[in-house]
Amino acid sequence: MLRIITAIAAVATVVACAQAPAAPKADLPVSGGDGGAIDKLAADAVADVQAYWQETFPSTFNGEFTPVRRLVSYDSTGPSQEFCGAKTTGVPNAFYCPTDDSIAWDRGELLPMLSESFGEASVVAVLAHEIGHAVQLRLGDRPNTPTIVKEQQADCYTGAYFRWTTDGKSRTFKLDAGQGLNPILSTLFFIRDAVGSDFDAQGAHGSAFDRVTAFQFGFSEGPARCARIDIAEISQRSTQQKFSPDEKDVGLGKGNLRVDDAQAQEQLIRTLRSAFPRSQPTVTRARARCADALLTTPVAYCPSTNVISLSMQDLVKIGTPPRRGREGGIGDFAAFAEIASRYVLSVQRSAGLTIEGPAAAQRTACLTGAWAATIVSGSGAALELSPGDLDEAVAEMLAPKSLIAADVKGASASSGFARVEAFRDGFLRNADTCLAKYR
Ligand SMILES: [Zn+2]
Repeated sequence: MLRIITAIAAVATVVACAQAPAAPKADLPVSGGDGGAIDKLAADAVADVQAYWQETFPSTFNGEFTPVRRLVSYDSTGPSQEFCGAKTTGVPNAFYCPTDDSIAWDRGELLPMLSESFGEASVVAVLAHEIGHAVQLRLGDRPNTPTIVKEQQADCYTGAYFRWTTDGKSRTFKLDAGQGLNPILSTLFFIRDAVGSDFDAQGAHGSAFDRVTAFQFGFSEGPARCARIDIAEISQRSTQQKFSPDEKDVGLGKGNLRVDDAQAQEQLIRTLRSAFPRSQPTVTRARARCADALLTTPVAYCPSTNVISLSMQDLVKIGTPPRRGREGGIGDFAAFAEIASRYVLSVQRSAGLTIEGPAAAQRTACLTGAWAATIVSGSGAALELSPGDLDEAVAEMLAPKSLIAADVKGASASSGFARVEAFRDGFLRNADTCLAKYR
């Protein structure tokens, strides 16, 4: 797991959340703080997110947004304080406390770690999420709302705030809508639930795929969309679940097949053929020659011969999940989805579409998502998604170079946001959407 996170943090090299030159100073009082840079950043973030809500809440929800009552800074590595009825020692977290309408953050471990790993935008995102819970309370939180609904809404409200920021409306932070959002998606990946936990379990926050989905709903459709997220909708789209009792471990951790297993390869091709019956490219492990295209690695598509060639050794590397203290790739689904991504280039070509350029890169991610939707568990496909699979696709798409979201030459769609959004469009809708939307 650590390996993936390191790799993903590497995407977040863009200075993500530069404070505007004449950024107004937040004068919100912070209890228990040390007046250091992290507390200042957190207070500025809260002030900015609240400015967004004061501007947006009345027109969206027909009422006034009142700021939270109290901000608390604590050090999880220092002497214990009490917050919301719980001790803070050894609790690297950020919270919203509904009983006294307050927000607390750990300035000792969590926020500095997020800021160092992903950039300042990561800290802003975490506080925007907590204020999302305050918004819920102001809208009349119902006591029996499942945790996952509250968490998905809070991630969605975070997306809505960041849209305002990338639109240039924040007076405190400047953020670019493309690459600038990479650190935030990486943060959502980092704080995802463990693979194999159920989405409707007590305390569930969602898989990386669920969390990024909610964030993108808020970013693209605004806060009213967030308030409509309910358990029925989440049950329809979430693939976060427990491992089934018959899930085997072939030595790569539950839910991972050996990518070079002949039967697994055969089943993969069967699922692709059944998802896209009109296009039947040849798939080979032999090293291919291609007269009209540069071959990508570890999988390449050659348009003139309609052949997909696999470099199995490299695919196995990507398909092997990282293990404690050892080098590793991502997981089996990342490798299978890379093969699928080259397969859908053939689908696009038979539909008479170009397979080169940014639109083709996004369409490729979208069609790969559409294929993934045909193998959700219970669909009876030859190969089925396991818990954690979609997060492996997200990890692949948040890496600097992604083949899932690349055109025939291997040029990836420019931002993690655009890649995951296209994949999700295909997954939650269908292949026709991909062909119509990404042109
Ligand atoms: Zn939360």
